[in-house]
Amino acid sequence: MPASDFTPVSAFDLPRFAGVPSFMRLPHLGLDDPRIAEVDIGLIGVPWDGGTTNRPGARHGPRALRDASTMVRAQHPVSGLRPFEAVNCADLGDVPPNPSNLEDSMARITAFYGRALSAGLRPLTAGGDHLSSLPILRAVAKDGPLGFIQFDSHTDLNDSYFGGEKFTHGTPFRRAVEENLIDPARMIQIGIRGTVGDSEDRDFAKAAGIRIVTVEELFARGIPDVMAEAREILGTRPAYLSYDIDFVDPAFAPGTGTPEVGGPTSFQALQVVRELAGVRLAAADLVEVAPPFDLGSATAWLGASLLFEILCVMAAG
Ligand code: MN
Ligand code: MN
Repeated sequence: MPASDFTPVSAFDLPRFAGVPSFMRLPHLGLDDPRIAEVDIGLIGVPWDGGTTNRPGARHGPRALRDASTMVRAQHPVSGLRPFEAVNCADLGDVPPNPSNLEDSMARITAFYGRALSAGLRPLTAGGDHLSSLPILRAVAKDGPLGFIQFDSHTDLNDSYFGGEKFTHGTPFRRAVEENLIDPARMIQIGIRGTVGDSEDRDFAKAAGIRIVTVEELFARGIPDVMAEAREILGTRPAYLSYDIDFVDPAFAPGTGTPEVGGPTSFQALQVVRELAGVRLAAADLVEVAPPFDLGSATAWLGASLLFEILCVMAAG
């Protein structure tokens, strides 16, 4: 199949509100489709929020993001990059989760990504709650730990919840460091803020050498300066980008389970990703979009726009 067949359906041919929605109006390929060998970047939905500790709803994220992403157009507004001409992209569908079983859901996610990676593509995920990143990392980092950049208002580095539960959306990166999936020396978290129960997660980060940039530091120094440091920390080897939509101020992204006030605007949300140009991303995710709390699809549209920004970094890297 020629590469041109991986281009999105044009809004000049079919209006954006018509047709069955796929991510960015790209062709939908199952993992068994032989054309998957031609895919460079595969968009995958993880409709699962089994790790949520408070307000659920991110299981509905992929469907809302697919719908909103039908508004994504062909060309980046600043760089001029036309990612769908640079790389072959496709919607690989959703991981089928088991909403009744957390461990089985994680095993299903790792297996799905293992199959996708064996086709030689790089995955771009629409979550799902933030625990989704852990089983994805188990597949993506199977050959050694990756650099890691996280936009989030929370560290997600807690040890456990509810008397010993090790797998929640507040613990994935504690586990990922323990499992040697990410290199703490090449790890940076940006946007951290809000009240906390204690500082055990930050004590762990400090001991492990993980760089935490609070939102106060981000605004005091400015985004370009902080992102220059982030590029330095990530270096030239492959890295994983994890973007929790609650990094953004709830005025711009109300549709999420654990909002924190005092955050970046929608413009700043895009700007931090644009500043990653040149970083080699092995994989990336956009998580915690919870449509039941959304207002006028604002969060879904921002999330879809962020998926396009991340796709452009991956396509150029
Ligand atoms: Mn998170
Ligand atoms: Mn968060």
